[in-house]
Amino acid sequence: MKLYLASANPHKAAEFRALADPLGSARPPGAAGARIQIGSAADVGGMPAVVEDAGTFAGNAWKKARALRGRLPAGGWSLADDSGLCVEALGGAPGVESAHFAGPHAGAAANLAKLVDAMRDVPDGRRAAEFVCVLALSGPGNVERLFEGRCAGRLIREPRGRGGFGYDPLFVPEGFEMTLAEMSPEQKNRVGHRGRAWVACAAWLAARV
Ligand code: IMP
Repeated sequence: MKLYLASANPHKAAEFRALADPLGSARPPGAAGARIQIGSAADVGGMPAVVEDAGTFAGNAWKKARALRGRLPAGGWSLADDSGLCVEALGGAPGVESAHFAGPHAGAAANLAKLVDAMRDVPDGRRAAEFVCVLALSGPGNVERLFEGRCAGRLIREPRGRGGFGYDPLFVPEGFEMTLAEMSPEQKNRVGHRGRAWVACAAWLAARV
């Protein structure tokens, strides 16, 4: 089975490749255990432009998965991720707008700075937040499946750590003192929203390949 990642975000693609390794995807085609090979949108001419305006993680993930599916060779599967950070004290924001919190052309640093500012006066007991990841899988015969992963935690006041991406330096998962940005990639994948969604997706795939 060949699974193409419907994402133009290199950080997400790298996390998925690490996650998929236990299914044999990182081994050369033909090697023992290489049951699922991971490709990327770049292998098929790039990720088509998708307007992420569905208003839900699932809706946006479907748009991306289906857009890439239309470009795949016969038998190819596409897997899209839509994810974001939902902050209780901000009524669930930035949520599906996580990539554009500080404006349509803002980068990760500006988004993070805006979150630090927005949370400045929020007391310690009210800093709960949750990362959400929805994976949409679309394959031959119009087989379509959704998988979800969540990671609950809290926001600290100043960013800490150099790993991960996006809002990781401000987010401490429940049961930890480290931010996601202070964890190794393996540890982030074990406790993070994307890793949890992938575990559900991998179980479904493993039963079929
Ligand atoms: P998407 O590409 O529309 O799914 O937007 C995802 C956005 O949510 C990213 O640009 C980040 O701002 C945020 N995000 C999603 N996953 C993570 C993560 O694992 N760490 C930090 N930020 C994340």
